[in-house]
Amino acid sequence: MKIAFVLGTRPEGIKLAPILNKLKDNPDFATLVINTGQHADLLDEVLQTFAIEPDYNLKLMKPNQSAELVVHEAIPVISAILRKEKPDLVFVVGDTATTFTGAFIAFHERIPVVHVEAGLRTDNPYSPFPEEMYRQLVTRLATFHLAPTEQNKENLIKECIDVRHISVVGNPVIDALFYIHHNVPPAVTEISQYVKSNKKLILLTTHRRENFHHLTQIHDAILEITDHHKEVEVIFPVHPNPNVRNQISKSMREHESIHIIDPLDYASFTYLLKHAYLVVTDSGGIQEEAPAFNVPVIIVRDSTERTEGVEAGTLILAGTDKQIIKGTIENLLTDTSFHQHTAEAVNPYGDGQTSERIVEWLKQYLSRHQS
Ligand code: UDP
Repeated sequence: MKIAFVLGTRPEGIKLAPILNKLKDNPDFATLVINTGQHADLLDEVLQTFAIEPDYNLKLMKPNQSAELVVHEAIPVISAILRKEKPDLVFVVGDTATTFTGAFIAFHERIPVVHVEAGLRTDNPYSPFPEEMYRQLVTRLATFHLAPTEQNKENLIKECIDVRHISVVGNPVIDALFYIHHNVPPAVTEISQYVKSNKKLILLTTHRRENFHHLTQIHDAILEITDHHKEVEVIFPVHPNPNVRNQISKSMREHESIHIIDPLDYASFTYLLKHAYLVVTDSGGIQEEAPAFNVPVIIVRDSTERTEGVEAGTLILAGTDKQIIKGTIENLLTDTSFHQHTAEAVNPYGDGQTSERIVEWLKQYLSRHQS
């Protein structure tokens, strides 16, 4: 059976890598990796780390590109590849322009689409934008839905998806996280200098489009916290998007306790994540990873599709108001029992065995289609 994997951004690479690597030595499955190169700058390092060599690289990345241009340019190329290669299934993950295009073309070729990380919802088409719409559209286009949690399954059932086509498997990001943590040392060796026993490390990341006009609020909250808490050190690996990069103020750049650095390789990033006291982020993947390391997450967004993490108490949805962000960080820094309670809440996103479950799912699919 031939399975095509369509990917193009860092989180897609991280989440599909454990499945691809599990299938590598299985003679029943041939894999085909189609990389749109949507975020080549961040994805290439991940593919190298997991020793994945794409069969096709569309190299679509352009400075400040729009999502719709990625879709527009990827459509004819993915279409030609799928017609030539004729895979039996197409795997996509999550909610990007690449995810949508892979599913859209596979649907037109009448190839069943398997959607990994299915059923996440904020139900606000503009938050996150355009990801919420892409994931909803991929749900309509996909035949099979591999949901990380029971909550995601419920979301799909509410949208009339046939329950027989939904499987709750966890999120393969946790498989990737554990694999890297145990097998790959940080590429940036000097990263350990940021981990000090007498300091509380705050890891900060921001990149969502809908947050571009809230970045000053988020940054000012961090500045005020570092001014008042001498025990705090902040590490901020800055996303390459100029809308993020150009908004970092001089006072932030020059603050002795705030370290503004380039995006990190996955192993270095997860090393810092493991040692962080708390995370402030608008990222999706980091909301799933940090709880697996018992690190509290403050989400600087108005909504989250990872609602089970909020219910479990491991994620705190703070929004984008400076005072609320600051107050939430203060609480975690000063109230040790609150920090402990948040850190020790159960991680709802998986046990590191998701890729194994997906391979089992594939074996069953194969046996049904062989007979
Ligand atoms: N990440 C990384 N280096 C960094 C920042 C993040 O490897 O400097 C990883 C992080 O561990 C997570 C993924 O990138 O697995 C998240 O990607 P991003 O926040 O860009 O996308 P999202 O998850 O929000 O779609």
